[in-house]
Order: sequence, then structure tokens, then C-alpha cells
Amino acid sequence: MEKYSEIRVPIAHDNPSIRRKESRCVLCGKCKDVCAKQIGVAGYWKYDGNDIVCINCGQCANVCPVDSIEEQDDTSTFMQAINSGKKVAIIVSPSVRVSLGEMFNMPAGELVTGKMVAALKKLGAEYVFDTTFGADLTIMEEASELIERIKSGNNLPQFTSCCPAWVKFVETFYPQYINNLSSCRSPIGMQASILKHHFAKQNGIDPTNLYVVAVTPCVAKKYEAKRPELVGEYGQNCNLVITVRELGKLLKSQKINFKTLKDEQFDSAYPTGSGAGVIFGASGGVMEAAVRTAYYLTTGENPPTNLLNFSAVRGTTNIKTAKIKLLNKEIKLCVIFGTAAARSVLDKLKTKKYDFIEVMTCPNGCVGGGGQPKCNNTFSTVEARANGLYSADEKMQVRASYLNPQINKLYKEFLNKPLSDTAKKYLHTTYQSKK
Ligand code: SF4
Ligand code: SF4
Repeated sequence: MEKYSEIRVPIAHDNPSIRRKESRCVLCGKCKDVCAKQIGVAGYWKYDGNDIVCINCGQCANVCPVDSIEEQDDTSTFMQAINSGKKVAIIVSPSVRVSLGEMFNMPAGELVTGKMVAALKKLGAEYVFDTTFGADLTIMEEASELIERIKSGNNLPQFTSCCPAWVKFVETFYPQYINNLSSCRSPIGMQASILKHHFAKQNGIDPTNLYVVAVTPCVAKKYEAKRPELVGEYGQNCNLVITVRELGKLLKSQKINFKTLKDEQFDSAYPTGSGAGVIFGASGGVMEAAVRTAYYLTTGENPPTNLLNFSAVRGTTNIKTAKIKLLNKEIKLCVIFGTAAARSVLDKLKTKKYDFIEVMTCPNGCVGGGGQPKCNNTFSTVEARANGLYSADEKMQVRASYLNPQINKLYKEFLNKPLSDTAKKYLHTTYQSKK
């Protein structure tokens, strides 16, 4: 039985994402406040002394002023894996590159990709790969799925599914909308699956000897990696998830001087993604990336500049709307961050209709994730991180997933085409009501 559940969020002892150090708690109530007002979870169920409802986003850890709530610490498991003799492949989410520097007193938004790769190599990783490639795969599948749904009129609006906390929110509070969720796995879910089921074979590695670690801004991914729906032929596809905060701690404990590291490149044994994959880390980024590819898939033409820099879906407003034309239809888009704000849209869906809805749980998307360096959710910091991603995208030669030659190669060699049987087997998933 949890104490003080009237004041603060209760946390189950087996929560895979977060934990509370009891001795530190000052009963300030900030965790419950953010959970109720921004996440829309506390206050929407009654604690009965048994089951605890948590969507694993970790925003309570971000606002706890005394570090009583923290991410589950998987740093020692990480070091055990490095020393186990297995081949450790690290995959790094887009928004890590614009926030990791903050752990070493560098400004928010500063792009530290090269130093980040060098640091992960120094820790002993065999491979360091970019999850932006997984994001490009997600877009190829999700844009194709959207086009199918628009043509058939079924299961609209389509909801994005790359945020595991949002997926759990729908499964828990709005199971009637489960079929609206895209069946696409998240970029980490796709990339880890391809690494185990294709990359390993291509490179003569026993998949059970390949240990995949995701470095992310997200504590919900610790929960997602364990979802039974995502277990593959060789067990968990993504073996471990560590956050930006954990990586910062690890580098400090190993006395790695981050600021002075010489830039290194992601391993060439596996491809990197496009600019569309990079902007996934900001609210609106998944929508913008999907629109770039959906436009091409329906017209055969590259998207115009206003869709390549789709300002209507950018920025720190928590509900943004826009309209585009696809298949001669007006397509209504909605981009939301904060699942409390998503409630207000879902509750009116019958009368206020959309075709495609992106929801990310954290403030301004993953740039404000529950495993990011703490900034007390100040918008200047999360905005600086998002701007770092947008400017990285603008400088890239390939800015849309369908233009990534390596994506096309993977479809040719292994997946056949978006939504093929092979793609569905390795890149898609199912959901369960958790009401
Ligand atoms: S925010 Fe931290 S200190 Fe405040 S009640 Fe929650 S756990 Fe305790
Ligand atoms: S918004 Fe990003 S960081 Fe936050 S729970 Fe969702 S996927 Fe994780």
C-alpha cells in the first residue's frame, strides 16, 4: 500500500521506468500536479491500494525538486553487457544529440553528435548507430498506412504510435480508439527488430550474441522494450534502454572528458537516416516527416518548400492544427503534446473531425522527455533543443525518408515494399485494452 497517495503520485515497486527514493521526498506534490495537469493521468483513476495507473512518461521525475523520483537506473546492466563479450550495438534517438551536452554545461540545442558517438565508443560499444534510420522506416510504413486509410475511409483519424506513453494512454483510457493507432512500431522498435532479424545475419553475427541498447530521452521506452508484442524470434529485440541522464552519469563515472572528445561518425556498417528522421525529436516532427513522404507517394513529386519547412506544425503550442491536400481531399491534421491536452481533442472527436493526429506525451515532444537533463520543463530549453534539430535537418542533403537510398535498399533486399507481409511481421505491432 502506497503512503501519501492523496499528495503525490504512487509508484509501483516493479515500475520499469521510474522509482522513488523515499527518504528524499518532501511531499511537495509537484509530481501529482504535473501528472494531473499535463499528462491527464492522476485524478482520472482512483487508487484502491492495489493497481497503480502509470503511463511511464517520467514527467514526475523531471519536476521532482529533490530527485526523489528518478529513472530506473540501468547503468550497471549496461556495463555488464559491455563486459560480457557480446556485441553491443547502441542506437541513439534523435533528440539525444541536442541535449547530452547540457550534462557537461554546454548550451541546450548544441549539436554534439560527433562527441556523443566518440563517448559511446569509449564506453566500449562495438557499434554506434543512428535511430534516425528507424525513424525513416517508421515514416515509410506510417505514411503508406495513412494513404491506405484515406483511400478506404477506415480507422480515421490515424494516430501516431511512436510514443509508448501515448499508446498506453489510449490502451488505458480510450480503448475504443485502439484501431485508430497506427500499427507501426516506434523507430526504436523497428530498428532493433531489423538489427536482430536482418543486420545480424547479413554480418555473420549470431542474433543472440547481439545486444541492442537504445540511448533515448525517454523512460517510457524502458517499458516499451519489455512489451510482449515486441518480443521477436530471439527474445527482446531492444535489450536495454538508457536515458540521456544515465548516459551523462556513466560518462562522468568513467571519467570520460566529454567536452574534449574528438568527433567520430556513426558506424558505417548500418545506415543513418534523413533530416525527416532527425526532426522526430520535436513535437510536430513525426507529422512533418510523414507529410513529406505522403506527398511524394501520392503525387510522385517532391514536396514544395512550405511542406519541407511546415511551420504550422512546429513550435511550443500544445495543440496545433493544419490542412493539406492529399488524393484530392482536404486532410485535417492535429499535433498535440501532453496527454492531458489530447483528452480535450479525443473527447470531441465525434464532432470535430481530423484525419491524422500526432500525440507526444512530453512537453514539446521528446526534446522534453522524462529522461532528458532536468530543466524543470522550461520552454526556452526544450525550444532550443527543438531548434537544434530543425537546423540540423535544414543542413542535410536528404530531408525526406523516401529519398534515403539506404531505405530503398533495405526494401529491395529484405522488406519488399511498405506494408508487405515481411514489413508487417518485423515493423508493425498490436495493442491491447488496459482499461
Ligand atoms: S515531486 Fe518529489 S518530493 Fe515532491 S511529492 Fe513527488 S516525489 Fe515527493
Ligand atoms: S514524448 Fe518522447 S520522450 Fe516523452 S514519453 Fe513519448 S516517446 Fe518518450
